[in-house]
Amino acid sequence: MKGKIIVTIDGWSSCGKSTLAKQLAKALGYAYIDSGAMYRAITLYFLRNQVNWNDTGEVTEAPNEITIAFKFNDTSRQSEIYLNEENVEYLIRDLVIAEKVSEVAAIKEVRTFAVAQQQKMGEQKGIVMDGRDIGTTVFPDAELKIFMTADAAVRVERRFKELILKTRTSPSKK
Ligand code: C5P
Repeated sequence: MKGKIIVTIDGWSSCGKSTLAKQLAKALGYAYIDSGAMYRAITLYFLRNQVNWNDTGEVTEAPNEITIAFKFNDTSRQSEIYLNEENVEYLIRDLVIAEKVSEVAAIKEVRTFAVAQQQKMGEQKGIVMDGRDIGTTVFPDAELKIFMTADAAVRVERRFKELILKTRTSPSKK
């Protein structure tokens, strides 16, 4: 294929978006951007710094202190997320973050910040990005847009297995 493109993968939760996105990025030699990880990293920042997300002033100010980047790890062979230069790829998978991320991701100021960052990451194209709003809000003009669905029973099973795995591996549960 001539020139790099943007691939977006949207869909309901627990349909396998990130599994497909990672494999596609690998096959194409593209960067994989996990938009959910960005919302998780912002949540981690808010919790650590006791940002009161019901206070408009605080949620408007906080993004100025946040830098998010993805770097490819040659050992794990996957892209990992950095919050203010710290690798937080594993910390953001903690259940404490999972419990709060939807609340934080619903804040207008947070979405404005995250979407702007995501669009910047796509400026050079050559990315696969997944998330529920990537093909609609973030890259409405992406060259390839995929929307994933799955049977409710399959989604429940995927989510259940994910939670079991996290409960067993979460540092806070040791
Ligand atoms: O995909 P993941 O479970 O890591 O996403 C964490 C949360 O971030 C989602 O449950 C959702 O609340 C939020 N999210 C979002 N928009 C996206 C990606 C994730 O609001 N594009």
